[in-house]
Amino acid sequence: FADRKNSYGPNIEIESEWKPFKASVDAFMGQDTQWTAYPIVGGKNLETDSIRDVNSPYDHSLAVGKVHWGTKDIVDQAIEIADAAYPTWSNTPATERAACLERMAELMEENYAELVAICHREAGKTIQDSIDEVREAVDFCNYYAQQVRQNFAAPITYKNYLGKEQSVQLTGRGVFACISPWNFPLAIFTGQVVAALAAGNTVVCKAAEQTSLIAYRAVQMLHQAGVPGEALHFLPGNGSTIGAPMTQNKRIAGLAFTGSTGTAQLINRTLASRGVAPVPVIAETGGQNAMLIDSTSLPEQVVRDAVRSAFASAGQRCSALRVLFVQADIADRVIPMIAGAMKEQTVGLPYLHSTDVGPVIDEKAQTMLLEHIEVMKKEGKLIAQSALPEWADKGTFVAPTAFEISSIDQLKDEKFGPIMHVVRYKAKDLDKVIDTINNSGFGLTMGVHSRNETTCARIAQRARVGNLYINRDQVGAVVGVQPFGGQGLSGTGPKAGGPHYLPRFAKEQLV
Ligand code: NAD
Repeated sequence: FADRKNSYGPNIEIESEWKPFKASVDAFMGQDTQWTAYPIVGGKNLETDSIRDVNSPYDHSLAVGKVHWGTKDIVDQAIEIADAAYPTWSNTPATERAACLERMAELMEENYAELVAICHREAGKTIQDSIDEVREAVDFCNYYAQQVRQNFAAPITYKNYLGKEQSVQLTGRGVFACISPWNFPLAIFTGQVVAALAAGNTVVCKAAEQTSLIAYRAVQMLHQAGVPGEALHFLPGNGSTIGAPMTQNKRIAGLAFTGSTGTAQLINRTLASRGVAPVPVIAETGGQNAMLIDSTSLPEQVVRDAVRSAFASAGQRCSALRVLFVQADIADRVIPMIAGAMKEQTVGLPYLHSTDVGPVIDEKAQTMLLEHIEVMKKEGKLIAQSALPEWADKGTFVAPTAFEISSIDQLKDEKFGPIMHVVRYKAKDLDKVIDTINNSGFGLTMGVHSRNETTCARIAQRARVGNLYINRDQVGAVVGVQPFGGQGLSGTGPKAGGPHYLPRFAKEQLV
């Protein structure tokens, strides 16, 4: 990132930065402030009959806005326009496309407070998490702009053995579909869309049904930043009404998806059944992420990093820690310390500085997590559960909970929320432990705490994961510094925020 710095955002721990920023966020936080999202096709908002109310996950009585859901006809219309616009957009100089991304980054910084307010209200994110959303979205724009200038603006030229020149040019593929989850409602949504646009594709995009308001604002800003209305279309709705018709359409030339592994598999099948040429699918999916701590690790640091990795953002990060493996020799010391740290966590209103853990996204997620807690109460041993505020039933809160279990095999799938499982292991079984983690089939993140460099190197070599973090927490990858993405059931690669991402959205022509 040589000549560009990552975005820092306001530091809410510094009073002189927090106070004016809070005042500007507050301006968007009145009970009366509401947002409305529409499908945007050809640059125009479309009103539809299917209008959904959005209420906040931390207080269901708080109306956040309304979303006009799209229809299959609107999807088909958008894809037709995007297809017709493809030659013009793909022939727009790469430097001009890059400039649109840089302008988008500036616009997001100019509208920081509003984006933070929507993210907080609609997704129930803490203020710090909401700031981090904007920072990451800004970083994606600047980083991909830089990448496109480097790799797409001019062809790579070669001379053959007779001295004749040939060139390889990267260009877009056609209409790219971008489908994103609710847990990084601005960052992942923006990252996918700007990558596809930067590479020269036209785009139809769908945010998760829970977080269309923030995505709608992002698309408005992209148009304001200079992306033509015909080149970028926004299609709010759920998987069956909007996602399925997008993936069934024969004109889709590539797809970027982030979400659960099951949905990625379904989308892959749908794309393949269209009877047209196979297209690239970039899928970033779930994880069953582990952290291994051995007897040389520093317990206080382990506790801080494990608790943050498991419970920050209410455990709703794809990278979040799900299974903590503790070497048996130190388990009786470390496990009570984890219980102590969990008792000190504050679950509450995500707007307050004192809050560590906010709500989970919706009732469906809450029910799934509470059911899992009941199962674990029977199959495992409760270590600790953080306290919920008295008024917690106003929203969808789940108390951070930790269980001791005997094996990772007890967990059949990803439980996306604030639940940590702890497994003891013997030092002599380290390789076997890594193999059982690998055997889950997921391969997103792994954490290691050890002062023994040989152990760290051995784990790094054996573990089949996309991102391995040593002696730190395992969440919060930074664009251009820690490219992010998994393998196996966790994703196809390439890594978002890394140097190999954009070429996967492109095709190459040799002349
Ligand atoms: P999800 O799979 O339920 O939904 C993701 C998106 O797919 C949504 O926009 C949804 O509407 C859409 N969708 C659903 N059915 C569809 C269909 N039939 N056709 C087309 N689109 C369809 O996932 P979620 O609950 O929104 O997100 C949480 C999941 O995302 C977790 O599994 C998490 O691990 C994963 N995730 C992974 C990464 C990563 O980088 N690997 C990042 C964030 C989230």
